[in-house]
Amino acid sequence: MSWIEDPAFGPDHPFGPQTLPYGVVDGQGVAVRVGDHALPLRPIAGSFSERLEELVAADSLDAVLAAGRPVWSELRARLTELVTAGSAPRCAKLLPLSEVTNRLPFTVADYVDFYSSRHHAENVGRMFRPDGDPLLPNWTHLPVGYHGRAGTVVVSGTDVIRPNGQRKGPNDPAPVYGPSTRLDIEAEVGFVCGGPATSRVSVNKAPEHIFGVALVNDWSARDLQAWEYVPLGPFLAKSFLTSVGAWITPLDALSQARVVPPPLGNELQDYLVEDRPLGLDLQLEVRWNGTLVSRPPFATMAWTCAQQLAHMTVNGATVRPGDLFASGTVSGPEKQERGSFLELSWGGKEPVLLDDGTERSFLEDGDTVVITATAPGPDGSVVGFAEVSGTVHAAPVD
Ligand code: MN
Repeated sequence: MSWIEDPAFGPDHPFGPQTLPYGVVDGQGVAVRVGDHALPLRPIAGSFSERLEELVAADSLDAVLAAGRPVWSELRARLTELVTAGSAPRCAKLLPLSEVTNRLPFTVADYVDFYSSRHHAENVGRMFRPDGDPLLPNWTHLPVGYHGRAGTVVVSGTDVIRPNGQRKGPNDPAPVYGPSTRLDIEAEVGFVCGGPATSRVSVNKAPEHIFGVALVNDWSARDLQAWEYVPLGPFLAKSFLTSVGAWITPLDALSQARVVPPPLGNELQDYLVEDRPLGLDLQLEVRWNGTLVSRPPFATMAWTCAQQLAHMTVNGATVRPGDLFASGTVSGPEKQERGSFLELSWGGKEPVLLDDGTERSFLEDGDTVVITATAPGPDGSVVGFAEVSGTVHAAPVD
């Protein structure tokens, strides 16, 4: 029996000893989540080996990320021993999650966002380019992505201020400036990088550079996007805010969640061919003001995080500790599996009914969106992912 007296810390709970995600708690530094508590590591740093002691006593996960996979494995093994032991390490304290404030747990270096759901790409293609082929010809040959804005990646719970910007609908004679009228979400899965900075990461060595996984909400202003995105892609429609979950689930916790992704339907360049594909069977859930509106299945994603990282660095670009890349909106084949409101409401034509009786196509001020996920863990257990949430607030008045 573990010394941790938290009913949510059993192996049949998503945040049991099989999960152990890392975060940073205000005033405490690096912590690990055990059930519904945070276990700050600084007070028990003396219970770790010399090389781990400094890392766990830090104010952020930056040094852990830089340390690389052998250290990540050693740290997780030691943590597992400590939290499953019969007696508490000296000076250990457990803080209820309801009483702590999480900080963004690492310094985000570069941020890249992919577009790796075939269903999402086809849905958006149908809406934005109704006269063309919904999938562009490059999509099945390379993981399409773009560089996002690292400086506005924020931790879950941070307020979402509706962005101002330019839009021009088909019936507008001239562009209009003002608050976005089509504010949306993108339910995504993010990958936090670490290990030595390097380029040309082999697709089969990608796990050496992927520390862990966190849910991402890539808030998107669809009206701004539709006007600005040609010819260079997303810009202000997405750079105003990107939210990530406060607790990062180690990739090591997902060994039972691996799946083979659906086939792309054509031969791939050698640098994208994995010996053992790193598809992951996460089941996401999206709640809009408390109503479960979608259950996007991550197992349906066509490109894996390993392929994304290999592609991102094949040209000589480096991956550094703290780099974050996200999967792209996760949408499954069914309507109730779509990971954006643009798709769920089909561009506003089919509003979504919430439990309070109101209808929505896009976000209104005061709305809250919470994305959660689970994945299969060892021995029939479930691995949980910390929620990524945000509440929308009115645009600033110019
Ligand atoms: Mn996105």
